[in-house]
Amino acid sequence: MTKKQRVAIVGAGPGGLTAAMLLAHRGFDVEVFEKQNQVGGRNGALRVDGYTFDIGPTFLMMRNIIDEMFALCGRKTEAYLDIRELHPMYRLKLGDGRDFSPIRDAVKMRAQLDALFPGEWEGYQRFLAYEKRKLARITPCLQVPYSSLGSYLSGRMLRALPYLDAHKSLFEHLGDFFHSDLLKLAFTFQAKYLGMSPWLCPATFSIISYLEHSGGIHHIMGGLNQLSQALAKAATEDGAKIHLATPVTEVMVTHGRATGLKLQNGETIQADAVVLNADFAHAMTHLVKPEHRQRWNDAKLKKAGFSCSTFMLYLGIDRTYDIPHHNVIFAPDYRQNVREIAETQVLSEDPSIYIQNACVTDSTLAPPGHSTIYLLVPTANNRGSIDWAKEAPMYRDKVLELVESRGGLSDLRKHIKAERMITPHDWEHQLDVYAGATFNLAHNVGQMLYLRPHNSFEDIRDCYLVGGGTHPGSGVPTILESGRISADLIERKFNTPT
Ligand SMILES: Cc1cc2nc3c(=O)[nH]c(=O)nc-3n(C[C@H](O)[C@H](O)[C@H](O)COP(=O)(O)OP(=O)(O)OC[C@H]3O[C@@H](n4cnc5c(N)ncnc54)[C@H](O)[C@@H]3O)c2cc1C
Repeated sequence: MTKKQRVAIVGAGPGGLTAAMLLAHRGFDVEVFEKQNQVGGRNGALRVDGYTFDIGPTFLMMRNIIDEMFALCGRKTEAYLDIRELHPMYRLKLGDGRDFSPIRDAVKMRAQLDALFPGEWEGYQRFLAYEKRKLARITPCLQVPYSSLGSYLSGRMLRALPYLDAHKSLFEHLGDFFHSDLLKLAFTFQAKYLGMSPWLCPATFSIISYLEHSGGIHHIMGGLNQLSQALAKAATEDGAKIHLATPVTEVMVTHGRATGLKLQNGETIQADAVVLNADFAHAMTHLVKPEHRQRWNDAKLKKAGFSCSTFMLYLGIDRTYDIPHHNVIFAPDYRQNVREIAETQVLSEDPSIYIQNACVTDSTLAPPGHSTIYLLVPTANNRGSIDWAKEAPMYRDKVLELVESRGGLSDLRKHIKAERMITPHDWEHQLDVYAGATFNLAHNVGQMLYLRPHNSFEDIRDCYLVGGGTHPGSGVPTILESGRISADLIERKFNTPT
């Protein structure tokens, strides 16, 4: 590269920061423009009266991807992050009231399966063996862009095809290994990370539960938000500039090429390449004029499928609870609950709830003797007609009542000292998440791989996408991969002699 090429990145979420870190290390002149006054986006921190919460991601899988990204920049993760594995991975309160706590220890796992689901150990072994082969075939497809039909039909993809299992649902696929429907659910709830129903989500995604069972679930001390902090630190050490509280209002396009950004403060930034990390559909509808979008036009976005949303409560409390770090309380009628979220789009009377009790691992998040409780309730996205201004206070009370009665948090309401709520309406209108669909475009067969918005954005040259809305999809490790894929594409374009 003779002249330093200038890359302007919209958004300092984990996708934008990964691209910033890699490109800055490779000698590009990188500037990141972030609307909020901190980095991280959905992976940011929420600090309230001495309590620290992760806004979004709390489950960290595939920590090896973090190691790879830092290694690409000549760094060691340990110099930036203190990452600990969780044992057990999580507690699942099944619909029949029993607790099941999957653990990455074969002896303890077998003892639990034999006690709770006699006869299922053999199926579990087959599941692990099958998914291991599947992951080996699919992983290479998650590390490259799909910009053309040719790349879609590559040898790599053809080798993975028999393992994609895209013709059946996740729930159906688990029937090949397990008899008990409750046990199947213990391997499907991870569809939550994609915001999808296990009965609709393609079986391709059974690799997520395999990744947990094979590689474990980790916590980052200080919260997963520390990942974004670390990516930002490494990027700035290599010369990237991160501008906080600097909203972008438009991607400038000339003759089909991205040429820079317009900022809300009136400035214009010229760039050789633009990287969009803002939520994909939000960016399309707010930052890219309709005349520049041939494929991802408003009609296509209207027809696109989007993930569910989440109703969130972040509670700082003046006591601790003796429950594991991650807890999933299944609705007694889980299928009905999922139908209400994904199909009928109404508020569930009896929802499933995720409880994070992070202080059991990480006392840095609250004052001594106090702790933080993070509650996430998957709900319909804003394409339904739930009136959150009206429903939110009642829903808050219902959720608190349920976690007290079913989640093991007795008297929780008496101990709340600090509280924040994010509703699906807030995700959309305060945090710029299209339709409040917290896990982005749905991951159905029609919106995966070549059919997902391309990393090298198909509608505008020199415009690249990173984050949950592009390939390979939503979830921290895949989002980091999107940063790497787009950084590689930019490097290839500007470093290859023509
Ligand atoms: C509640 C919740 C729980 C989740 N749990 C998990 C989990 O446990 N594990 C997991 O792997 N994944 C999880 N995810 C999914 C995913 O990993 C995260 O959402 C991730 O943070 C998304 O990263 P991103 O890079 O796509 O974008 P974001 O984090 O959304 O970042 C986009 C950034 O762009 C900025 N921006 C938007 N518009 C503009 C503008 N006009 N100008 C400048 N900046 C702008 C935003 O402010 C934001 O900072 C969860 C998500 C949510 C919401």
